[in-house]
Amino acid sequence: MSSAPPGSTTGTPRRPEAARSRPTDLATDGLPTLALRGVTKTYPNGKAALREVNLTVPEGDFVFLVGPSGAGKSTLIRLAIREELATKGKVILEGRDLARLKRREIPRIRRRIGIVFQDFKLLPNKSVRDNVAFALEVTGTPRSRIGPAVDRVLRVVGLSAQAGQRPGELSGGEQQRTAIARALVHDPRLFIADEPTGNLDPQISWEIIQLLLRINEMGVTVLMATHNAEVVTALRKRVIGLEDGRVVRDEIGAAYHRED
Ligand code: ADP
Repeated sequence: MSSAPPGSTTGTPRRPEAARSRPTDLATDGLPTLALRGVTKTYPNGKAALREVNLTVPEGDFVFLVGPSGAGKSTLIRLAIREELATKGKVILEGRDLARLKRREIPRIRRRIGIVFQDFKLLPNKSVRDNVAFALEVTGTPRSRIGPAVDRVLRVVGLSAQAGQRPGELSGGEQQRTAIARALVHDPRLFIADEPTGNLDPQISWEIIQLLLRINEMGVTVLMATHNAEVVTALRKRVIGLEDGRVVRDEIGAAYHRED
């Protein structure tokens, strides 16, 4: 196993003293889950949202993506799920250059990624169970496999007892758990959480973070964009900082704010 931390535009990530003993750089023998190579994204209006971004997220990593509003976090996520294509450079998911996928390959690659957002995006008229099942139904999964898969992820997120309730009958934390279950039901290799605690109070935020840590322990790579300084600082995971479209820091075992 290499002890070299993942690459970054700023060179080798710093390892603060407190982080040294932690086994955070989970380099694997396999391919990185996500890699960006010299990625620039310029929107049609001329706005450069990402500039020459290089980063590698190895399999099994847990990464916080931080930076002020407008720094390019959502753009990076949109590129990773191939909602947008890079203007320059390569976005590589499990060894596949996303710009070179055939149209018919896109749905299968997308299912390698589970994603949740700040605003849950649940279907209001469907129960918890049906919200999760729907994600499998739209991909043509046989009915006989849907039930057991839904039961399994509802157990993982601790919502088996609420399976029959609709989103309007759930707390914010339970709604986010439902969204997490839906994102997990395809067995993704990369779990992206875009401000998942943005609408939740601190206690519930911690519960959601604990769940993301558990998902990571199950072997799923986690990339979480967040402004939640308390959570980032407490967990001492890898922190990638974006500012004005550039990677300005990439540190393992870091706090939300730089400590130097
Ligand atoms: P963040 O998620 O860190 O807030 P974004 O990726 O949303 O940052 O935005 C990065 C920059 O790109 C911002 O200046 C934003 O205004 C701009 N931007 C984002 N989406 C678009 C778009 N579809 N068209 C033009 N500019 C955009």
